[in-house]
Amino acid sequence: MTAMPFRLPSTAPRAPLTRFAPAPTGYLHLGHVASAVWVWGVARALGGRVLLRVEDHDRSRSRPEYEQALLDDLDWLGLEPDLGLPAAYRAGRCEYRQSERGAVYDHELGRLSTAGLLFACDCSRRRLRESGPDLPNVETPYDGRCRHRGLTIQPGRGVRVRMEGGTERFTDLRLGAQEQDPSEQCGHLLVRDRLGQWTYQFAVTVDDWRQGVDLVIRGADLLASTGRQLRLARLLGRETPPAFLHHPLILAPTGAKLSKANRDTGVRDLRAAGMSAAEVLGAAAHATGLLPASSTLGASDLGGLFLAS
Ligand code: GLU
Repeated sequence: MTAMPFRLPSTAPRAPLTRFAPAPTGYLHLGHVASAVWVWGVARALGGRVLLRVEDHDRSRSRPEYEQALLDDLDWLGLEPDLGLPAAYRAGRCEYRQSERGAVYDHELGRLSTAGLLFACDCSRRRLRESGPDLPNVETPYDGRCRHRGLTIQPGRGVRVRMEGGTERFTDLRLGAQEQDPSEQCGHLLVRDRLGQWTYQFAVTVDDWRQGVDLVIRGADLLASTGRQLRLARLLGRETPPAFLHHPLILAPTGAKLSKANRDTGVRDLRAAGMSAAEVLGAAAHATGLLPASSTLGASDLGGLFLAS
């Protein structure tokens, strides 16, 4: 195994707690495996631990059968978390499954409310879309329409947290210094939608804090979320922010981002086509730039891809 020249900087936290946080809205594909290679590899290289968190906050798209399938696929790949064990998920209630964390989110929302940081919003998705230029891949920041309307927070209305102007700075362990202004990127942040569902941004920020995650490793497609999550974490009262590492995404042959719709890269399809777990891990490590060629890689070899300098 010849590792590519990615070296963890000496600023990487020692013995961190990181997390693998898939949404059970489809089957695992090679992009998830690439993410897992970074998560488990970096954790092992730094003497840290991995938490498995099932991010089923989107109740309309999450399915128990996808959760079962992702647990099975992780088992097959030999990727064993230290916290949030598959056996605990399979047993029924699991404290790391987001749909069971409503009381925690309610509590944190209450604290933001007491601090006077929330307001209700009855804007529809359609109005929000139409309030901006609607360019592909360009986020339209919320225009603040409900900010001073004094609407009561009640079922059927969304809840937003105020994001005033100001730059968030952080140093990504792979990409270096970053600056983001959440007020320009997203505006006042939606934390609960009109259907009463917790948003990804809120759930993930609360969980990373309350579960003690001090190193967030995830794909570069989520880089733009980091400034707002840092801001929100501070508003919630988190004193020490986590470190961040955004890994390269793997691209489909067309150059498009891989999705669950790309069935040919589904772990189950690769397995059905006769690939071994070590071949799938090796292919994922190669696709994300960690190996010069696809080869076989055992789960216990992953730490070796990330030698700390
Ligand atoms: N649940 C998110 C996903 O499946 C990942 C969230 C994160 O790593 O912050 O894309």
